[in-house]
Amino acid sequence: MKLRLVASLAMLLAAPVVLAQGYPTKNVSMLVPFAAGGPTDTVARVMAQAMSKPLGQQIIVENKPSAGGILAGEQVAKANPDGYTILIHHIGMATAPTLYRNLRYKPLEDFEYIGLINEVPMTLIARQNFPAKDFKEFLAYIKANKAKVTYANAGVGAASHLCGMLFMSAIQTDFLTVPYKGTGPAMNDLLGGQVDFMCDQTTNTTAQIKSGKVKVYGVTTLTRVPSLKDIPTLNEQGLKGFNVSVWHGLYAPKGTPKPVIDKLVGALQEALKDPTVKTRFNDLGTEPIDLKRATPDALRAFLKSEIDKWGPLIKSAGVYAD
Ligand code: ASP
Repeated sequence: MKLRLVASLAMLLAAPVVLAQGYPTKNVSMLVPFAAGGPTDTVARVMAQAMSKPLGQQIIVENKPSAGGILAGEQVAKANPDGYTILIHHIGMATAPTLYRNLRYKPLEDFEYIGLINEVPMTLIARQNFPAKDFKEFLAYIKANKAKVTYANAGVGAASHLCGMLFMSAIQTDFLTVPYKGTGPAMNDLLGGQVDFMCDQTTNTTAQIKSGKVKVYGVTTLTRVPSLKDIPTLNEQGLKGFNVSVWHGLYAPKGTPKPVIDKLVGALQEALKDPTVKTRFNDLGTEPIDLKRATPDALRAFLKSEIDKWGPLIKSAGVYAD
C-alpha cells in the first residue's frame, strides 16, 4: 500500500516532465482579447505563424473580444495549465487591476509569463473629412464642439481608451467615447465616417495614414516614429510630457509546467529573430523586442512596473468600471 502511494506520488511529480517531453502534440490556442483586424490581432497573427515553425505545431488565433480584453484574461487564468491555451495581451494587463474593481483574475498571480513581444507607439487620427487641417484646428474644434465629437475606442482597459482619457485630461475638454469590440471594427467606422477620431497603435493605423484614408494629428510618444517621421509628436505640439506606448506579452495559466514554458519561450525567441517578423513589424511602425526582454522574468518585472506606473495615474483620473 505504502509502496503504491510512493509510486503514484513519483508518477505525479514526473507528469509535467512527461507532458513537456512530447509537448506540443496538437494545436495550441492563442487567445486574443480583441476583435479580428485590430492591432493586437495583427501582432498575434504574425507571432502565431512565426512561433508555429519552431514549436512544430500550429498556433491557432482565437478572438475573444470584450471591454478592455478582460474576458480573455479571465479565460486563460482559469484554463487547463497544459500549454495548449496561451494569451496575448497588451498594456491592458497592467491597467485592468486599477480600472476594474471586480476583476476576476490577478495579473501578477494567476499566470506563468512567457515574454514580451514588442512596444508600439500610438497615433491620434480622425476621419478623412474631419474639419481640421492641423493639430491646432483639431483642438479648437473639439473645444468648441465637446460631447458632439465622438471618440472610438476598445472599451475601458483598452490602450485606445487609456490614450483617449489621457488626451481628455491633457486638453481639459470632454468628448463622447464610443466603445467597440476592438479597434479593428472601430477603424472600419472611422473610415466610414460614422465616428470622428481615435488613438490607436501604428500597427493598425500606418497603412491608413500612408494612403491618406485618415487624417493624422500626432504620435503619442516623446520621439517621432521612424516609419512616420513627418508626423510630429503631441509633446512637440504643446501637450508637454504626453507619452503613451503599448506593449504586448505572452502568458500561460498558472501551473503550466516549466519545461512547457521553456519551449514556448524558445519559440517566442526564434520568432523574434525571424527576418520576416522584423520586416512585417517595421512596416507596421514597431519592432521585435530585445531578446533579453522576451523572457518570463522580464515580462513579469515589466508588468509589475507598469501596474505601479499606471495605477496612481488612473486613480487620480477617477476612471473605473465594474
Ligand atoms: N489594441 C486595441 C486597444 O487597446 C484593441 C485591439 O487590438 O483591437 O484599443
